Amino acid sequence: MSVQDEKSSLAATLAEALGIPLERAERLLESKSTRLMRYRNIEYIVLRRDVGDHYEGTSVILLPDGGYRVVEGYPHIGRVLLLSRAVPRHFVDYVVVEEKMDGHNVRVIMIDGEIYALTRGGYICPYTTHRMRRTYGEELRGLFDEVGHEAVIAGEVVGMENPYTRYYYPEAPYWDYFIFDIFTADNKPVPVKERRRLVEEHGLRGVPQLGVVHKDDWQTILEIARGLETAGREGVVLKDPDYRVEPLKYTTAYINARDIMEGMKFPFDEGHSFIFPRVLRQMFKAFEEEWDEARLREEAHRLGEAILLPAVESIMRYARGEVLAEEFILEFASLNELEEFISYAASLGIPITIVSIDVGDSSVKARMLKHKKTPEHYRRIFRTGLSPLD
Ligand code: ATP
Ligand code: MG
Repeated sequence: MSVQDEKSSLAATLAEALGIPLERAERLLESKSTRLMRYRNIEYIVLRRDVGDHYEGTSVILLPDGGYRVVEGYPHIGRVLLLSRAVPRHFVDYVVVEEKMDGHNVRVIMIDGEIYALTRGGYICPYTTHRMRRTYGEELRGLFDEVGHEAVIAGEVVGMENPYTRYYYPEAPYWDYFIFDIFTADNKPVPVKERRRLVEEHGLRGVPQLGVVHKDDWQTILEIARGLETAGREGVVLKDPDYRVEPLKYTTAYINARDIMEGMKFPFDEGHSFIFPRVLRQMFKAFEEEWDEARLREEAHRLGEAILLPAVESIMRYARGEVLAEEFILEFASLNELEEFISYAASLGIPITIVSIDVGDSSVKARMLKHKKTPEHYRRIFRTGLSPLD
């Protein structure tokens, strides 16, 4: 096929897959809204923004037989500020309270009997794919055999050994996968009870279910959230038992402050956009939970520290000539796997460098850095003494 023919056949496939006119598909393919990717022998097109009713993070997988498979992006979950208002209004009768785990969103799919792991952005991540296959390959295959090979399994990868979001969970210190949704071939979520049965019977892990409450009983949800608060966990996702209405999320004051603290380690990267949404969450928690003077002052103190301490520390580190970057360790089965991940990151423009490699008998551990924009800003500020903002 000539390059021109290949292009038009790609556009035709995309148009059919997304249910959009051919000209629109052609324009999308030329624009930054899509990206054509390859993982080994699989080619796929990633949507980098919503297109029609397809969310950002949707992947159109081009099958070797000329067909295609659309893997829908994981939907955005609306956020609750006031449980007392949102829960009775939004839900039908009962609400399943699930723990919201803090890691990164991964959809698992099966193509030609093989398992692949997709990031929230819709990319097949080689690292996550390998780890998923090693940890749960057989179990996931069993689950797909029962729910259908076209199903999509969605869950949170949690633990310290991933390149995306790392928090320590005692039940999953390094790397683990907690399933929170299963979508059938027609993209319908499997009801909560059935999903939990499937997950358990196939030897997989699911997010903890913390209760089932009536929608008028928002106080119980608040109590559950308080328990998570003291345990230093992220929050809850509220779901209709049959997904008749969309889920909602609600987070703890602890995590709202901790996220700001993490974000402000790199003020010009995450820091900037992290602050206001989280301040807003604290404001309405203070109101709804009726924080007394002491609690309010305690939270105000914590918030101030979360904003300023890591930020000032980052300037000190910069001034001492230290590298301001995220550091993490990943475990691979081989050097080939490591190489595959590095070229994947490079193809996406993710600025990762390797600090050291430790080759063991059965695995390779690599210490890596993900670089940030903050040092660039500091460099300019130190040179000119001027603020990039007003
Ligand atoms: P968005 O705001 O678009 O949903 P985000 O990544 O900013 O994206 P979060 O605030 O982390 O969203 O909340 C949504 C995410 O929470 C989901 O994408 C999923 O990865 C994660 N999550 C953790 N536990 C659950 C759960 N029990 N049910 C559903 N999602 C969960
Ligand atoms: Mg999250």
